[in-house]
This record gives sequence, structure tokens and C-alpha cells, in this order.
Amino acid sequence: MKASFLFLGTGGSMGVPVVSCTCHVCRSLSPLNKRLRPSGLLRVGKKQFLIDVGPDFRMQALHYGIRHLDGILLTHSHYDHIAGIDDLRALRFSGQERIPCLASHESFKEIKHFFHYLFEGYGGPRLPLDFTFLEDDFGKVKFEGLVVDFVSYTQANMKVNGYRLGSFAYISDIRKYDERVVVALQGVDLLVLSALRYTTSEVHFSLDEAIEFSRKVGAKRTFFTHIAHDLDHEETNAKLPPEAQLAHDGMEIEFEL
Ligand SMILES: [Zn+2]
Ligand SMILES: [Zn+2]
Repeated sequence: MKASFLFLGTGGSMGVPVVSCTCHVCRSLSPLNKRLRPSGLLRVGKKQFLIDVGPDFRMQALHYGIRHLDGILLTHSHYDHIAGIDDLRALRFSGQERIPCLASHESFKEIKHFFHYLFEGYGGPRLPLDFTFLEDDFGKVKFEGLVVDFVSYTQANMKVNGYRLGSFAYISDIRKYDERVVVALQGVDLLVLSALRYTTSEVHFSLDEAIEFSRKVGAKRTFFTHIAHDLDHEETNAKLPPEAQLAHDGMEIEFEL
């Protein structure tokens, strides 16, 4: 089946430009250096699924004309990945009562804390999400017509999930991981992977670490996302191998599922 992945946002937690920063990337006029918070739209046949609902979801949905979602896959519950959940209420106005959402129990607990008013608000629950839970750290789950392999790792004590759908995988906010993650991703054709900047971080891959990871899993093509303002799009891509490049907001990649 024909599938595609649209990068709705390729920025790190602060986006690019960063508020108050005057570095050359933040001042750049190139649209390739404008990065909203990380999220993507996975289209499979006639269905469309959102990966993460960051704080820029509203602008992303307006810009790309997202009026309906067949499901959401959540990686974890840090602000830059879930803050747009409140804006999902707007999809109700276009007639969507419930949005299926795949997440871990740990992510759900955090969401319930963060958006407590949507769970207990006046007039009954107002959160339009219908959760399907990942019952283990690694495994396979059927979700709204998709067959999804999932993996788990930890970022700053928070559980994070990565997803593989056949030849495609989305792995974000990763630094420390179990070898089972590498095994589960073996031979993936198209890998979307977070890489923050050149230098190392406690909780994110540097570019070198991300390239090493993509080679370990044997990905044919890798596109980096969750990119900080340290990286100029064109300068960085000129230095990277052709099979592992920075993605940019609005980029769409097609594949067979
Ligand atoms: Zn993040
Ligand atoms: Zn900057």
C-alpha cells in the first residue's frame, strides 16, 4: 500500500528560531532553518495518523489542512510532544467525536496529570482521545488497521516509545537504549531519527551518535528530526552522508507499506 510521511515539525523542544536567540541560524531567512516542534503526519492509503501532538499542532494543522485524524501515536509525554492535545478539541467541530490514540500507560498517566481539566471538567470529559495501551515495553500491536511494532527506552527517567511500521520507523528523544531496540529496527528502509546538534547531550543523540545508530540498525535512508538551532540546514547536510540527512518542515517522503 502507498504510504507517506510528512514532517510537520523538525525542531527540538524550543523550535527554531529560539525565542530571544540571535545566532545565525535563528536569524536565517531560509525556510529550511524554520523548525516547529517535532511531529509528523503518516498517511497510509486513505488514512492519516499523527505522530506526537506538540505545542505547534494548531499551526501545523491549519497550515497543512488537517481536519481529521484516524489515529495518533504518542512517543512520550514531554511538553514538546503533547502540549497540543488541548487543540485536538477543535476536531470535534468538524464532527470527529473520538480520536484513537496509541500510548504507554506511563504516557497516559502524565497526560492525565498535565490535562487534568480535560478529564474532569464541567459537562463531563472533554478529551477527545480514545486510548489503546502498549501493554509491554516491546511488541506488536494492531491499531486502526496498522500493524505497529513498538520499542521502549528511557529519557530523563521518562519512558519513550519508538514505532516501526514495516519498512518505516520513527524513533525520537533517544540516547540510552537497550540492544533490543536495535534488533527490532534491523533492516528498516526509512528511519526518522532524532539528532539534536553536533555536540553530545545527556538525553539526545548528537549527529555522530545518530549516524552510528542508523548504521547499526542498517537503515537504507535516515532523516534526522528534533534539530536544535545549532545546525544550519544546508551547511550541515553538505557534510552528512547522502543516506543520512537533516529533514526540514514540510518535507514529505513516500514509501510502500
Ligand atoms: Zn523532545
Ligand atoms: Zn539560535
